[in-house]
Amino acid sequence: MKRRVRCGNVDIGGGAPVSIQSMLNVDTADVPAALAQIEALKEAGCDIVRLAVPDYESACAFGKIREETQARHGDKALPLVADVHFDYRLAVMAINNGADKIRINPGNIGSSEKVNEVVAAAKKRGVPIRVGVNSGSLEKDILEKHGRVTASGLAESALRNAELIEGMGFSDIVVSLKSSDVRMNYDAYKILHEKADYPLHIGLTESGTAESGKVKSAIGIGALLLSGVGDTVRVSFTGDPVKEVLFAKELLEAVGMRDSGLNLISCPTCGRTKVNLETMVAELSEKLAPVIRRREALGKRRVSVAVMGCVVNGPGEAREADLGVACGDGRGAIFEKGEIVANVPEGEIAGELARRISLL
Ligand code: SF4
Repeated sequence: MKRRVRCGNVDIGGGAPVSIQSMLNVDTADVPAALAQIEALKEAGCDIVRLAVPDYESACAFGKIREETQARHGDKALPLVADVHFDYRLAVMAINNGADKIRINPGNIGSSEKVNEVVAAAKKRGVPIRVGVNSGSLEKDILEKHGRVTASGLAESALRNAELIEGMGFSDIVVSLKSSDVRMNYDAYKILHEKADYPLHIGLTESGTAESGKVKSAIGIGALLLSGVGDTVRVSFTGDPVKEVLFAKELLEAVGMRDSGLNLISCPTCGRTKVNLETMVAELSEKLAPVIRRREALGKRRVSVAVMGCVVNGPGEAREADLGVACGDGRGAIFEKGEIVANVPEGEIAGELARRISLL
């Protein structure tokens, strides 16, 4: 079991549910833009959000963003993590401006005295530190020892940096290491997982866009989760971070660690299909998204919906689900709790299912 640390209102490690993180891709100094993106991430289901703090303006803005999110959401405000490289003073400033966690790579902060300043500020405010190392920033001696970037080299670097901070009398540490190579990433996290009890922030860096990076991310992160490795997850896609959160949710659902509140079953379609099932399922998913979010907020149980193309397997699946449809030629028989309750034209099926689910 990993040690547990607290990041704002979210626990990481120690058996806490695996949380979803993302990172803003707007300028932190642009407070309205940052706030808008934080709202969008919260709405999408993000648990923790990280902001880059590259300069003095961003460190000041960080404080304003913290105040505003707190004013809007109180206890339910998303925890904010400050991501700082090179300048320890920005890290100290972000901590004092309300960061719930700080992400540093001690290797690029400079002397251990400077790292110590960050640790002292984090200790004073009771916020954890994430030690993050990347394959692109391995220490020279480790590179020389291993000959090149390797999984064991990455794990060694992460542990060395975490232990440096631990040696300063600070134990609220989360560790991450990132490689864009799926196999190396997996092996390095496995080594880290076996060697230490630090909660692990897992992810795969530079995986591509939301379209091209899904397979790599699903394998890279999913394999780790299935082997019990990982306490908080960040999917990295080039572009809109909301897509990262939505995909992270899908991933956690696929490995049985989250329940989105909706189990959507739809047949693959075949030569018997006499309706446009693909369009119907897309329309239904869109209509159901706000309905399911409302149900989740109210703590309602998961609902299952079956959308089937014909009468071969359709009635059976539709009967088993809370709601379902077995389609025929341009129409569909709607099932609710095992009984046929309506027979509607193709164009009305998605709306009818969504309406009935909203009443459940
Ligand atoms: Fe084909 Fe019917 Fe099966 Fe869908 S449910 S794949 S339409 S046989």
